[in-house]
Amino acid sequence: MEDMFRFSDEFGPARIIHIHRPSVGLKAIAVIDNTACGPSVGGVRMAPDVSAEECFRLARAMTWKNAAAGLPYGGGKSVIFGDPRMPLDRKEQIVRAFAGAIADIADYIPGPDMGTDELCMGWVKDENGRALGLPSAIGGIPLDEIGATGFGLAACVDVARSFINLDLKGARVVVQGFGAVGKHVARFLAEKGAVLVGASDTGGTLADPAGLDVAALIALKASGQRLHDHPRGQKLPADAILDIECDIWIPAARPDVVRADNVGRLKTRLMPQGANIPCTPEAEKALHERGVLVVPDFIANAGGVICASIEYRGGTQRAAFDYIDERIRTNTRLVLEDSRRSKGLPRAAALMLAEQRVRAAMTTRRWR
Ligand code: NAD
Repeated sequence: MEDMFRFSDEFGPARIIHIHRPSVGLKAIAVIDNTACGPSVGGVRMAPDVSAEECFRLARAMTWKNAAAGLPYGGGKSVIFGDPRMPLDRKEQIVRAFAGAIADIADYIPGPDMGTDELCMGWVKDENGRALGLPSAIGGIPLDEIGATGFGLAACVDVARSFINLDLKGARVVVQGFGAVGKHVARFLAEKGAVLVGASDTGGTLADPAGLDVAALIALKASGQRLHDHPRGQKLPADAILDIECDIWIPAARPDVVRADNVGRLKTRLMPQGANIPCTPEAEKALHERGVLVVPDFIANAGGVICASIEYRGGTQRAAFDYIDERIRTNTRLVLEDSRRSKGLPRAAALMLAEQRVRAAMTTRRWR
């Protein structure tokens, strides 16, 4: 028999729930990892092919991200098996059935993730009263529209730069993935005087050592066009984004884009991780050994979940931005100071910080 407890360690997962509603064709998994800090918060991913193991790893990442951000929430995640581009009425039926199936799991609060959005969270809230990342019509703060994660990344850069004596005025920035995260971090850094010298989307890379017009690129993407449709700049293949020399290289697309076989191509000094797990462990170690300062994903990209948690408590957009700014600056400093002292990887320092907080919370609980 398959070992159902193969992922288990001292932190969790507390529960793995398999959901099957044959009448609507719903198959889903929900993982409640650790709830010592509070009810678990984590996105609902809709994808055809996510394993229980991947769902658990994503839930564990949320345990660390929420604890590091000092939020009163634990970590969870769920996956609905299906093609997210299915017809909307069918999607509503499936998402509502999922929300009904988790109605009794009071210590899991769902949020949007790949394949689900604010509208889906509106359906979930309507069914079971708990969801974050809601449409603004029912009290949501549109976190991707306002650039909550990009704002947090820019705050992270502002602290990290002092560890490598980098002046933001004129600093050369490259962004891989000019989407909800990438375009906003480019905007916030440009406001501080940095220069975007390269950006990419699935259609390719656009480069200009003299600087790209961030506002024009955002408008271009909003009109449904690709970066290559911009009249200025050098047009290169998507993968060429790795070769552009810069001071700050920001992954904001997919996992595992920097690996042992391509890490040598990066010519940068700082990597604040916008995407989740953009580097393999070997690549992250190689960057550290070369003196590239890497701020790990669950510290640098926590702006989105912080914003969503403020929304859940009825807070305002202003309150969300203040909290993101304070928390990400503090955590970036703590992690980089600790890493400098220990000479270890920033990720090891970040994990230590998050684990300490979860362990401290666990001592207050009767069932640990
Ligand atoms: P998005 O879909 O809005 O944008 C992703 C962008 O990446 C798109 O422009 C797409 O064209 C581009 N892209 C995809 N594959 C690429 C490739 N191989 N090369 C170049 N570009 C490519 O997604 P997002 O919300 O901006 O999320 C980006 C990453 O950040 C994801 O890994 C996500 O998990 C992570 N993240 C997002 C948030 C958030 O608040 N949205 C928070 C934390 C982490």
